[in-house]
Parts: sequence; C-alpha cells; structure tokens
Amino acid sequence: MKAFLALDASTYGSEAGFRNITRLLQLMLGMEMVTISLISADKQILRAKQGFDVGEGAREAAICNTAIQSYEPLVIEDTLEDARVRDNPFVTGPPFLRCYIGAPLTTVDGYNLGTICAFESTPRQFNRREIEFVTICAKLVMNELDLRRQANRDPLTKVFNRRSFEAGLNREMERLRRRPGNAVVAFLDIDFFKSVNDTHGHPVGDRVLREFAAVISDQCRENDLVARLGGEEFAVLLPDTDLASARIWAERTRWTVANAWFGGADAVSLTVSVGLTELDATHNTSDAIELAADHALMEAKRLGRNRVVSP
Ligand code: GH3
Ligand code: MG
Ligand code: MG
Repeated sequence: MKAFLALDASTYGSEAGFRNITRLLQLMLGMEMVTISLISADKQILRAKQGFDVGEGAREAAICNTAIQSYEPLVIEDTLEDARVRDNPFVTGPPFLRCYIGAPLTTVDGYNLGTICAFESTPRQFNRREIEFVTICAKLVMNELDLRRQANRDPLTKVFNRRSFEAGLNREMERLRRRPGNAVVAFLDIDFFKSVNDTHGHPVGDRVLREFAAVISDQCRENDLVARLGGEEFAVLLPDTDLASARIWAERTRWTVANAWFGGADAVSLTVSVGLTELDATHNTSDAIELAADHALMEAKRLGRNRVVSP
C-alpha cells in the first residue's frame, strides 16, 4: 500500500486535468484557495494549487492529515472554534486559515490518498450543496488518477508496463545528468516459459506470470521500478545502485525464483535469466540502455540460462 501511495504521488504527472478540477471548485465555492493534497508517509504534497503557492509540508502539520482519517468530508466553518485544528501552524501562522472544507481521495480498496480541499482566511458557513461539490470533485480526481494508473500498469500482473518503464528510465537519466550517481537496469526473462503453457495450459501460465511478478517485486525496494515489457520478459530499474550491489540483488532474485513454487497445485518450478547494465554517461539514450541490457540477457541465455550476466 505504501508503494502504491508513493507511486501515485510521483506518477501524478501532468497538472492540466487536475487544475481544471481545482479551478472548478474554486469557482463553485467562490473561495480563495483550493488544492489537491497528497499525503505520503511523512509529507503533504500540494498539487494543482489555486490561489496560493506552497509546494509541500510536514504531514503532522497538515489539516488534510485530519481529513483523511474519515471517509466523510471535513468541514470547519471557523478553525478557532475547533479543537482539532485550533493550534495548527497554518491557523496560528500564515496563511491564518479560518475555514476549511476537504473531501478525502479514496481508492477503490478504501485507502485515503489525500484530499481535495478549499480554505480561506475568514470564517464562513458551508451548505449541503457546497459539501456535495467537494465530494464530487474528489470523485473526479480519483477517476483521473485511476485512468492514469491503468494506463501505466500491465493488466495481468499489475506491475508497470513498458510505456511507464521507458518514462521512468528517461526520468532517471535526466536526474543523473543533473546530479551524477548510479543506477542499474535489469532485464529478466523466464527460461523455457513456453513449456509451462504447453504442459499446464495458458491459464496456469498466466497465474505463474502474476506470481513471478510478485516474487520479483518482493525483492525490490520502494523506489525500484518493476515492469513487464511483454510476454515473460520483465525489467527493473534500480536507482541509487552500483553494479556490484545490483549483481548481489540479481543473484538473490535469481536464487529466490529458482527456489519458489508457482501455480499453486500445479507446482511449477522456474528459472530466470538476467542481464544487467549500468546507466552512465556513455549511454545517452534509453534505447542504448535497453539494447545493452538485452545484450547481457541474450548472453545469459546463450551461456545456459538460470544466470546473471553483467558488463
Ligand atoms: P527462453 O528460455 O529462450 O526464454 O524460452 P521461452 O520458452 O521462455 O521463450 P519463448 O520466447 O520461446 O516463449 C515465450 C512464451 O511465453 C511463448 C508465449 O506463449 C508465452 N507467453 C507470452 N505472453 C504470455 C501471456 O500473457 N500468458 C501466457 N500464459 N503465456 C504467455
Ligand atoms: Mg523466456
Ligand atoms: Mg522472451
């Protein structure tokens, strides 16, 4: 769940669709300040802001942190009259909030990611229609987020798809150009996967692919990007990782796959071949990186499979 949250904050993407929603709410309520607030483990990240300009703040200080404790909108007509927020730093200090209305952004599985909220430096009352406006805007934000999530995910395994992998790779290369560091790309291809389908049937093959994706994801950190490139081929982007650490990670992953059972009662065993490549100054396009990782993977296949090949 934590990974899901971090992901939505970072793959939130373009502001345009969200700014229309916050602007609409600003007009409907006739209020000064409206924003979408995403709550992560320790931070509040403010997006699609209307009427003020603060990017992020500490989670404990966020009024939205109170709003996400409930599935109902939080309505505060006068902050100085409400013990929950009277001492909040945004009430006692700039922008001296005196009223607040916010609806939680709830995922289909009942998790509150943040809020869409409006606030002002004078107290005011809210009627039922206005509370409904905010509730509907929260649903519009979630619809937009769900569509973006679906566009980024592989429907079978729920890990990222090729498109998001390439977007993530380009983002990481951009980041390394600004601030030198290490990152590694791993390509993983299941060995002799065709025989799983041939022996157990395509539905078991699908189940094995889902379980394989889960095993790989379990071996990864929160900031690693796991993607299914297609068929039985996966890729992992490991940021802040040097080649020596990536080799250890890849060996452990290879070993874990070889020692796991897949497909429930069908008890399928698998092995995986892994190709690694490091992101560095000589790789100036994502195509070159993918070619290098693919080359290492092909070498792992050629040398007999169930192994890791790195430069
Ligand atoms: P190698 O060790 O050389 O990688 O052999 P392989 O059998 O894994 O590779 P090959 O490319 O010959 O076969 C891949 C198989 O993956 C063939 C295809 O039917 C199967 N496959 C691809 N996508 C899916 C899918 O979504 N579901 C299922 N069940 N099978 C799939
Ligand atoms: Mg294969
Ligand atoms: Mg393949």
